[in-house]
Amino acid sequence: MVRGRERQAQDKGLETMRHSAAHIMAEAVQSIFPDTKFGIGPATSGGFYYDFDLPRSLTPDDLPVITDRMNEIIAQDIPFVREEVTKEEARQVFTAQPYKLELIDEIPDDKVSLYRQGMFIDLCRGPHVTSTGEVKAFKLLRIAGAYWRGDEHRPMLQRIYGVAFDTKKALEEYLKKLNEAARRDHRKLGRELDLFSIHDEAGAGLVCWHPKGAVIRRVIEDFWKDEHIKRGYDIIYSPHIAKLGLWKTSGHWEFYRHYLYSPMDVEGEEYIIKPMNCLYHILIYKTRLRSYRELPLRWAELGTVYRYERSGVLHGLSRVRGFTQDDAHIFCRFDQLEEEVVGVLDLALFMIDTFGFDSYKVLLSTRPEKYAGTIKIWQEATETLARALDRKAIAYEIDPGEGVFYGPKIDIKFEDAVGRAWQGPTIQVDFNLPQRFNVTYIGEDGKEQPVAMVHRTVLGSMERFVASLIEHYGGAFPVWLAPVQVVVIPVADRHLEYARKLEAELKHEGIRVEVDDQSGTVNHKIRQAQLSKVPFMLIVGDKEVSAETVSVRARSGEQQNNVTFTSFKENISKAIVDKVKDLKL
Ligand SMILES: [Zn+2]
Ligand SMILES: [Zn+2]
Repeated sequence: MVRGRERQAQDKGLETMRHSAAHIMAEAVQSIFPDTKFGIGPATSGGFYYDFDLPRSLTPDDLPVITDRMNEIIAQDIPFVREEVTKEEARQVFTAQPYKLELIDEIPDDKVSLYRQGMFIDLCRGPHVTSTGEVKAFKLLRIAGAYWRGDEHRPMLQRIYGVAFDTKKALEEYLKKLNEAARRDHRKLGRELDLFSIHDEAGAGLVCWHPKGAVIRRVIEDFWKDEHIKRGYDIIYSPHIAKLGLWKTSGHWEFYRHYLYSPMDVEGEEYIIKPMNCLYHILIYKTRLRSYRELPLRWAELGTVYRYERSGVLHGLSRVRGFTQDDAHIFCRFDQLEEEVVGVLDLALFMIDTFGFDSYKVLLSTRPEKYAGTIKIWQEATETLARALDRKAIAYEIDPGEGVFYGPKIDIKFEDAVGRAWQGPTIQVDFNLPQRFNVTYIGEDGKEQPVAMVHRTVLGSMERFVASLIEHYGGAFPVWLAPVQVVVIPVADRHLEYARKLEAELKHEGIRVEVDDQSGTVNHKIRQAQLSKVPFMLIVGDKEVSAETVSVRARSGEQQNNVTFTSFKENISKAIVDKVKDLKL
């Protein structure tokens, strides 16, 4: 299945319009601040931004003023005009624009293109819409600081973000979604629900899991391990640092150095902190000769890795510097590859479904321009991945040339409750590492054969996956994942003993329960539990104590009185075991 041409053209059209909106915004800003120095102003997935160096800090009050000015420019329907000039001519145009001069210096050709609309001229490859009137529906959203070229040693510019759509209706729908996304923002909920924190004193992108966040993670990890063991995986562990030489052999030092932290000296030898777990798995594989009989080997590790990401791109749990991959490597014969990929797909979809995501999109990425291995082996492996997808009746799109250099891959992006896509499972065949490390097995004929190696994750990383869960559920986790599953609320102190008894019995069943023994009214305690998004509250007073019952209140507000405690306990236990997404009273 090839990505629809029509949709591609539509996306391209939107992108062009959004980029044009960025130029219009730049003109508006220039008309207000004539000395503006301009950074860059590209289209983004929903809109556009432009970076400015301005004489003063912008405030939200500036946005309506800039918006009005943009609307005037749009109403005048001014044409966008393209010009081609030499680099020297371009330098003359931008003498007062240091950032543009820097960009001009880096253009390899001598010809550069400029775009002009009205009084505003920009260094730009284009394309643009024909005139400003074609920008129909836009909104400026916010102002943020952005280092020039994302480099924290360069000046901090002011970035204005905007969104733009073909119609007012599409814009309004998008803004509604955006509001909903802000309400579900995992950074905000992570703080409110006391799940995790990131500390300037410790370093950006390094996550501390608080007890409640750690519960969610532990439940996921336990489930993950059990499910892997059921499906024929072995769990392994590997160290966090390794000699640099290993990463030179693998090619990481050559190709991914920008993601690696600097080496540290250990008794005169250089070590680095690991950016991936693969090499240790290979070392374990190579501790002895492997026979065709013992393949496939499926080795899984919740392996914590560290990658250098620029501070500007870090984002809560979803983009971090240290993260735990739910990693596994499969070593198999090439004739086993299809079956193995089918197995991983099955596991991946099972996971997505269990965690309550209903829709997903699958991409099969093919051979890029630079690649390891032969065309023949790429073709065969790509066909194998496609066959596995067909066998599972999974619809997919081909992402031509987007495979990593070492092999074709399948990416699964799942969608959350508000329609945003999250990078989830990936399955990658690798022709590079087995060759560089001479990873082989002894075939039936007694001869050494190259092994087929698959890298795969089914959740991605614990950090990003938990971020997706927080946003998908807006913090109201299904009962099996909720950090606290039940709060017992005694109406008065004389009901505390009964509350403690219920607590002990629920704990005995492995249910995460707390008694709210603080002073305060029942209503206040209910509100507190509701804010913490605890799935169930058990309210116990005189009637409940004498009848051995509970009043059950769900966080949805539903309430049921006179429920026998035993039946509540059985229901919730079953819902936890069955991983029920939405337990009704
Ligand atoms: Zn441009
Ligand atoms: Zn790997």
